[in-house]
Amino acid sequence: MTYQAYQERTQWVFAFYSGWLLLAALLAYQFSYDLRGTQNPELWSIESLARLPVFISTIITLLAHYCGEPNWRPKTFIRMMSLSLSLMMSGLFLVYAKHWPESLNEFSGRLEISFLGVTLLATVGMRDWFIQIAIPLILFLVTAILVEVPLIRLAPFLFSPLLMLIIGLVVAEIMRRLGKHQFLSEQGMKELATTDQLTGLLNRHAFLPLIKHAISRARRDKQERFCLIIGDLDHFKAVNDTYGHDFGDLVLRETAVRLGASLRQQDAVCRWGGEEFLVLLPATGSEGAMEVARKILAAMANTPIRCPDPDRCREISVRQTISLGLTCFNEEDSAENLIASADLGLYQAKSEGRNRVRMDPAREPVTLAQA
Ligand code: GH3
Ligand code: MG
Ligand code: MG
Repeated sequence: MTYQAYQERTQWVFAFYSGWLLLAALLAYQFSYDLRGTQNPELWSIESLARLPVFISTIITLLAHYCGEPNWRPKTFIRMMSLSLSLMMSGLFLVYAKHWPESLNEFSGRLEISFLGVTLLATVGMRDWFIQIAIPLILFLVTAILVEVPLIRLAPFLFSPLLMLIIGLVVAEIMRRLGKHQFLSEQGMKELATTDQLTGLLNRHAFLPLIKHAISRARRDKQERFCLIIGDLDHFKAVNDTYGHDFGDLVLRETAVRLGASLRQQDAVCRWGGEEFLVLLPATGSEGAMEVARKILAAMANTPIRCPDPDRCREISVRQTISLGLTCFNEEDSAENLIASADLGLYQAKSEGRNRVRMDPAREPVTLAQA
């Protein structure tokens, strides 16, 4: 999963909970009018009207979530809620300052809550901080100029809302960083679980599902063929014994590089075990697979492997060969017997003298005739 996809997933969670929170706050304000002992009954209808855009935007967000998250990005919904919240507060401020300036203090408390809400909604990213914080502030200043409230009078009234704004910013940044940290550690753990640490190739655990996937595709589509090659380094124990384990490791890494260079983009390779490698060749018949196998043999045998840093190791040059067993998918194959069949080919290659490719003798004539 990319970081962007991860961000979108968390943003949907964020949009969903913010939607419910805003809706609950709106309803609480709407129906606690008497409880809060507000002095101006005329305010009820004006406030209800100002709340309407926020109400609509939260309902749209929640519906979008419940109806299966459309193509619109979650950011769009978060921005919509945050913007409608800013508009509501500026609109109310305009009305209060113009008609009930004595109630401005009561209004300040609500401004605190909505500023906190707006900044928390800005968790979606740096650019949003600017957009979502600049817009409410500009709206407020414009409103203050419109109602001719001197800025000096606004200062005590805006003090704690601005403090909330800063708190919101800090919390939003912490949440963003924690999200990124969690994503990176999840990715790291996934990589550790699927990658061979010495060669950087996929490991056995990650490779088996690829074979199973290729099998189910081939079963569904009769035209789809694929082959498997298993490789085992020749006399590798002797390399370790003669030149040391570190050089042996270097040979394994170099083998991984040469295998990768011999394959096409759609092919996959893994380190199957100690000095064994497995190659999956999708959309390939036995003749095509034979061609790839010969390429691998040449890539290994034609160029000796040398120690890259003569200061660290002796002047070593080893012509490391590999033996290959090849098999192609037959309708009844499971992943396990496909690998076992490739292994039979490998056994044949070893017994005939190594540095060669052989097919499973039991299926060779049939498969070649089909290809
Ligand atoms: P053959 O041609 O019959 O395959 O002979 P071989 O010597 O390659 O076969 P064998 O299976 O006896 O030897 C495999 C060797 O691979 C033994 C083991 O020490 C070595 N090996 C396995 N994993 C690693 C590793 O991670 N690093 C190094 N350096 N050696 C490894
Ligand atoms: Mg072996
Ligand atoms: Mg070997």
